[in-house]
Amino acid sequence: MKSNYRVVVIGGGVVGASVLYHLAKYGWTDVCLIERKVLTAGSSWHAAGGIHALNADPNIAALQAYTIDLLPEIERESQQNIGLHMTGGLTMAGTPDRWEWLQSAYRVFQSIGIEDCRLVTPEEARELNPVMSTDGLLGGMWADREGYIDTTGTVQAYAGAAKKHGATVVENNRVLELNQTAEGWEVVTENGTIQCEHVVNAAGLWAKQVGRMAGVELPVSPLNHHYLITDAIPEVAALDHELPMTVDLEGFTYMRQDQKGMLVGIYEIDHDHWMEDGAPWEYGFELQQEDLGRIENELTLGFQRYPCLNNAGIKTWVNGAFTFSPDGNPLVGPVPGKRGYWTACAVMAGFLQGGGVGKSLAEWMIHGEPEADVYGMDVARYGDFAQNKRYIRETTGQFYSRRFVMTYPNEQLPAGRPLKMAPAHDAMSVAGCKWGVSWDLEVPLYFAEPGFEETPTLKRSNAHDIVAEECKAIREGVALLDITGFSRFEVSGPNATAWLDRIMASKLPAPGRAKLAPMLSETGKLKGDLTVLNWGDGRYWIMGSYYLRAWHMRWFNDHMDDGVTVRDLGEEVCGFAVIGPNSQQVVEKLAEQDIGALKFMGCGQFDIGLVRTHVARMSVTGEKGYEINCRYGDHIALRRMLLEAGAELGIREVGFNAMLSTRIEKSFGIWSAEFTQGYTPGMTGMDRWIDWGKAFVGREAAMAERDGNGPGQVQVTLEIEADGADASGYEPIWSDGNRVGFVTSGAYGHHTCKSLAMALVDREQAAVGTDLSVHIVGVERQAKVIEASPYDPQGKAMRG
Ligand SMILES: Cc1cc2nc3c(=O)[nH]c(=O)nc-3n(C[C@H](O)[C@H](O)[C@H](O)COP(=O)(O)OP(=O)(O)OC[C@H]3O[C@@H](n4cnc5c(N)ncnc54)[C@H](O)[C@@H]3O)c2cc1C
Repeated sequence: MKSNYRVVVIGGGVVGASVLYHLAKYGWTDVCLIERKVLTAGSSWHAAGGIHALNADPNIAALQAYTIDLLPEIERESQQNIGLHMTGGLTMAGTPDRWEWLQSAYRVFQSIGIEDCRLVTPEEARELNPVMSTDGLLGGMWADREGYIDTTGTVQAYAGAAKKHGATVVENNRVLELNQTAEGWEVVTENGTIQCEHVVNAAGLWAKQVGRMAGVELPVSPLNHHYLITDAIPEVAALDHELPMTVDLEGFTYMRQDQKGMLVGIYEIDHDHWMEDGAPWEYGFELQQEDLGRIENELTLGFQRYPCLNNAGIKTWVNGAFTFSPDGNPLVGPVPGKRGYWTACAVMAGFLQGGGVGKSLAEWMIHGEPEADVYGMDVARYGDFAQNKRYIRETTGQFYSRRFVMTYPNEQLPAGRPLKMAPAHDAMSVAGCKWGVSWDLEVPLYFAEPGFEETPTLKRSNAHDIVAEECKAIREGVALLDITGFSRFEVSGPNATAWLDRIMASKLPAPGRAKLAPMLSETGKLKGDLTVLNWGDGRYWIMGSYYLRAWHMRWFNDHMDDGVTVRDLGEEVCGFAVIGPNSQQVVEKLAEQDIGALKFMGCGQFDIGLVRTHVARMSVTGEKGYEINCRYGDHIALRRMLLEAGAELGIREVGFNAMLSTRIEKSFGIWSAEFTQGYTPGMTGMDRWIDWGKAFVGREAAMAERDGNGPGQVQVTLEIEADGADASGYEPIWSDGNRVGFVTSGAYGHHTCKSLAMALVDREQAAVGTDLSVHIVGVERQAKVIEASPYDPQGKAMRG
């Protein structure tokens, strides 16, 4: 071990080994992995080694697919056998809704290029897996590239291949302390101190403690998990092929062959946290005592699904812990505020996801950003609120218990809620508000009569007509929307203008004006679909998506200049939007200054009733609207006064569902759908806001896109011949049987009475009038490319 490395990776499980491998492979060879005991001494040695394609987040599914492709390569490079059994896999559905969901999921996989899947009937599934009872099963999905690997061999293979690329592995040496230095980090270990530029926390079950060594509180907790391995089973031994890896979603089990017997793992409802502050340091190759009482129900279902288990002897019980984040996805990337401190932890399925995690992190460290959009596993997708122990316990527990439970897109889950509530929350609840959650905040979805319960569904729900009424208020009357759920950053200081001009690709707004502002990475990918407001007194605001607060703040800090202060106003400022053709009449009644003089995209400070506010005349609904921002303490009063002022005009409180329906009628994109860090300005139409004449971050790459052959796919608006269900995102789009794109988001346009979607399609298919088709909830529907903004294409309503 040297006393200096460029990177020190802490942890020799599958994830640390994969990070080390990718760093060395991509050319950073002055890298060292430090392991407390021996490689695999955390969760990795006792994993079931299963690999399968399904993941609800398509970007994570794509990284899993990368990992599966990588496995033979590391075996070849390292010459270490990884015991790869590519048996193929089945995922079985046992309820009509689940079967519909699986059919939609199959189409989503096609959208992201995972082609080696097909749907199967219960009879076909039974032929593929003859020991499975198909009682109650409605269908399944087969995937070619599923199976299992030898876990120890795989970790050794990553590490061995890394060493061949020049990396160093040091075992039996615990990291004791981390100290930040001017150049990077001082890593104090049992066997000496190392100076390095970067440290990577890949400490698995000990990630919490290795976080705390750097003053970082990671939202992660271990939970226990069982599987059993049987003795040889005659029915299995007699087969002429190996059993496929099989997931029985309604049965809460996964199963694979193990020699001549079976391995059955259980995701039980009655979950069990273990060592929430991280495993003890002395913890080694140990397991917890099995707890059959806790898994009895799921185990019974497993024995019914595989009747041959009833006569089988059980050779081994494994009850071991592995780690989870609140949403079950990994925590990867640079930790905000800790230069040179990276995480690669909370990787729930390390053998399945470890390759993708290692690749993304290595690219991030070396090139400044990963190739793929990895927002779904970015450590900065959480804020400080997620450090709370109960929050972590509730959310990780909920994720574990629901691992095989179906979640509907319109379903609201209870863990960690309600947490942050806008001051008018309770009054809005009395008015019938139904709440969703964005980050830590309760956000209004719609307002319903007392006693109304929304039915969870993949299709249009029983709230459809309520949202229609709210859209009518927006388009024809006047509506009130709580806009606490937007982010707001204040930019000030002598260099504020110069800094904003550099990080935003658009022109900056003149004093008293607001402007849409794309923000780009150095490689010309999108980093934000923001709005910049110039208050005319040296202060600017940047407004964007609330849940990206920590993510954007990390970006601002990473690109900071002297003489600039950026303050997140998310705990200080909230507000209401008054929207609709009659909005001016309502606001006018309360405004002490001439609100009528405020033109479209204008902004200024106004006294609205008793409240000092910052008002911007804009609305993502495409209607005339005023976004009225106030202090938290004024929120209740502002709502009361606006409702009173609007009463005679029939003002109606509305939620974000109506906003999302109206915005798609204007073809206005939103983040995580039309705009992501995987897309470019040219693909998304964001290029029309770029000021090409100035210098800005990402200009060179954006120019190359503009002056080159252009993007292969572009954004279009589709009208779909839907029936009871609308597109939601990632559905594949077809032309004469060829996949030509995918939906980025969809909704029913209540004013235009059309099922609408926005989509990325091949340029050749983007002309208005092109006939296409799209799969919605597994059923193929006709679709047509239409002019953008089917509602009010000239924008008269919002300007009026
Ligand atoms: C019962 C069970 C079944 C599973 N089945 C599957 C499966 O089928 N497929 C799948 O993909 N995943 C499965 N998993 C999950 C899988 O085991 C984990 O995702 C994976 O092991 C995580 O790897 P890791 O490298 O992040 O962490 P770990 O394996 O926990 O590795 C962390 C390493 O860091 C070292 N370390 C910690 N602190 C320090 C320090 N201060 N100094 C030096 N070294 C340190 C530890 O000794 C350890 O070796 C299963 C898990 C369990 C419990």
